[in-house]
Parts: sequence; structure tokens; C-alpha cells
Amino acid sequence: MYDYLIVGSGLFGSVFAHEAHKKGKKCLVIDKRAHAGGNVYCENIAGINVHWYGAHIFHTNDKGIWDYVNQFAVFNRYTNSPVANYKGELYNLPFNMNTFYQLWGVKTPEEAQAKIAEQISSLPFNQPKNLEEQALLLVGPDIYEKLIKHYTEKQWGMSAKELPAFIIKRLPVRFTFDNNYFNDKYQGIPEGGYNQIIDGLLKGIEVKLDTNFFDHRAYFEGLAKKVVYTGKIDEYYDHRFGALDYRGLRFEHQTLDQSNFQGNAVVNYTDAETPYTRIIEHKHFEFGQQDKTVITYEYPMMAGKDTEPYYPINNDQNTAVYNQYKALSQQEEKVIFGGRLAEYRYYDMHQVIASALKAVRDEFN
Ligand code: FAD
Ligand code: UDP
Repeated sequence: MYDYLIVGSGLFGSVFAHEAHKKGKKCLVIDKRAHAGGNVYCENIAGINVHWYGAHIFHTNDKGIWDYVNQFAVFNRYTNSPVANYKGELYNLPFNMNTFYQLWGVKTPEEAQAKIAEQISSLPFNQPKNLEEQALLLVGPDIYEKLIKHYTEKQWGMSAKELPAFIIKRLPVRFTFDNNYFNDKYQGIPEGGYNQIIDGLLKGIEVKLDTNFFDHRAYFEGLAKKVVYTGKIDEYYDHRFGALDYRGLRFEHQTLDQSNFQGNAVVNYTDAETPYTRIIEHKHFEFGQQDKTVITYEYPMMAGKDTEPYYPINNDQNTAVYNQYKALSQQEEKVIFGGRLAEYRYYDMHQVIASALKAVRDEFN
């Protein structure tokens, strides 16, 4: 008999397991994938740590969370500064003085602010109702067309008018020459990749891989006093209120016989015609000097029954369905729901860790 059966070895499940284990609780972690770590898992190819499920850059403003992950790995000084390629034109991201200069030739913050004010002045609304209106109000139609609209519509597979405004607020807009994609105080990549963090969290804990909770649900539920569930919440309830939509991705990894393919870890393709959203060149996360390089094309797609769900699509319709599942989950006394899939939230790593640590506090206090 275990105290906790933890379904999913991503960051939520691993942090919960680690903290429960420290308190002397007996835990079993299961994962349907062949490896632990969920989406932060890295594969080592040609000496390069390949972020197997897309680029993962750790960033947080919370010193407690930063210290927490630094227990398990040494972080380097990597700062994410993606480049956007729009029909062969290159622009710096996020939207900053470099971008404004490249677009309009403006050289001072005053000129850039005036240009954006002029662009926004013709808009027929001032309270954004969706992502498109939010983006137009933030940066105006030129940037919206070249750097936001098509990338967003490829990424999410729907019109930017149907998407919630909060998604675009993830990106800073600044009037300094600063290409740092994040505003957070702490940022970096674990030297040697993310697996060591997961290994550190799961040290001394029993883990069963290639094991799907739903293949033997009653058996697993009978094994432990409580379940920590980090899979899809709609699947847990057998889709009784309908299936929640998730955006999927297809990753195409290539090893190339050259040392430097694109000169940057992340290049976004912001036009409508290019079928992928971005190309990741993994060695640049750790300033690698290997002879070869590994790149990954990210092709967005709808997540189906047999493909991995990566992004919850938090539009009004899904939110209404999720709220029904959430109400059920709140009545469960023996199940804790957590993480990107069970909470149906667009969580970054630091937020998932914070959420898991809160679940630990709620459980043990
Ligand atoms: P997951 O990592 O999804 O783990 C859930 C685990 O549960 C999986 O291993 C899954 O196999 C397992 N599971 C599900 N159902 C079952 C079942 N029935 N039986 C057994 N096991 C099951 N965050 C950042 O901070 N910075 C970034 O740069 C960043 N980039 C990202 C890029 C992409 C493409 C994606 C998709 C996410 C990115 N994130 C980033 C977010 C980050 O991946 C998540 O915040 C974090 O991994 C979520 O952890 P989790 O434990 O909630 O979920
Ligand atoms: N986005 C965009 N253009 C870009 C990059 C991002 O319009 O070049 C928008 C897009 O809607 C995306 C959102 O900003 O979904 C958040 O971007 P982020 O890089 O945070 O996405 P993630 O890393 O989570 O895929």
C-alpha cells in the first residue's frame, strides 16, 4: 500500500512526489511515456541536450522557486532572445526598440511611441475583447500583421479574434534596446539539461514507466490512499461533459553535419505560408561548441485522441466545459488534480512548481 499514487512524472508530479517522500510518505509515480519528466525531458544527441518536447527556458521572479530548482542543477546565464523571420525579413523579439528600428527606422523611444500611437489612433475600439484587439492596441497593425497574426493563427489553429487576450500579454513591449524575451529576474538553462532536475526530484522514489493509469484504473486506485493526477482532467471523467480542446505539436528533429545552422536557439516563422512556427537549435541553449548541430521544426496541429496534448485552449467554450470538471474535482477527497493538463492552464515551469508546492502545503499543513 502506498500513501500516494502519482499519475504523471512531469514537474507537478515529480515535485509533489519529492516533497511527500521527504515527509516519509510512500509514493509510486507512474507515467505512460517511456521516460520521466513530461515535457521538460531532454534527449542527448551528438553531445547536445535536445529539448525533446520544444524549447524550455526557465524563468521566474520568485527567489524561492529559483532556489528550489537550483538544488538540483547549475543554471547557466542563457537569456532567451528569439528572432522572427517574416518572409525573409528578420526582426528581434520581443517587441522592443530593435524591432521598432527594423520596422520603421525609428531611433528613439519618443519616435517609437509616436509611431505606435499613430498606428493605434485609427482603431475603432479601446477595450480589447480578444487576442487580435489586445495585440492591435498594444503595438498597432504593422507589428500585428508581420509578427503576431499569422504566427498566432498557425500556433492555435483559429482566428486571433477567437482567442483570449491574455495569451499575447505573455510578451513584453518595451522602449529600450533589450531583446530579453522575459521580464523575470531569474532566467537560465540547467547545464546538462532538465533530466537531472527530474532525477533529483525522483531520487529514492519508485517510478513505473510505459504505464497508463487508464489501462488498469481500478488496480491503481486500489494501490494507494490518495491519487495525485496530472493527466487530462476530461479524460479522468471519461469526457462526460465533452472533450476539452488541446493544441498539439509535431516535432521534427534533425541532426546536421554543420556546427551552426541559424546562429540562435529560437527562430520564429511569423508568416502564414511556412507550415512550422519555429525552428529550435538546441546547442545554443548551452553555448555548445560541438561539430554537429541538432535542430527541431515545430509544426502545430490539433491534439487528437492519440497525440500528445501540449497547450490547453482557454477560450470561452472550453473554459465553460472545464469549470464543470473542476466542480467535480473539488468534491474528490482522495484525488489531487494538478499541472497543465489537470488544471487546464497555460502554466510555465515555474508556475507548475509553485502550484505543486502549494498542493504540498495544502496537503501536509
Ligand atoms: P507534463 O510535463 O505534461 O507532465 C504530465 C505527465 O503525465 C506526462 O509525462 C504524461 O505522459 C503523464 N500522463 C498523462 N496522462 C497519463 C496517464 N493516463 N497515465 C500515466 N501518465 C500520464 N515552460 C517554461 O517555463 N518555459 C518554456 O520555455 C516553456 N516552453 C514550452 C514549450 C512547449 C512546446 C510546451 C508544450 C510547454 C512549454 N513550457 C515552458 C511549459 C512546461 O512544459 C510546463 O509548464 C510543464 O512541463 C508542465 O508540467 P506538468 O507536470 O503539468 O505536465
Ligand atoms: N506570439 C506571436 N509571435 C511570435 C511569438 C509569439 O504572435 O513570434 C504569440 C502567439 O500567440 C503565442 C503567444 O504569443 O501563442 C505566446 O508566445 P510564447 O512564446 O510565450 O509561446 P510558447 O512558448 O508558450 O509556445
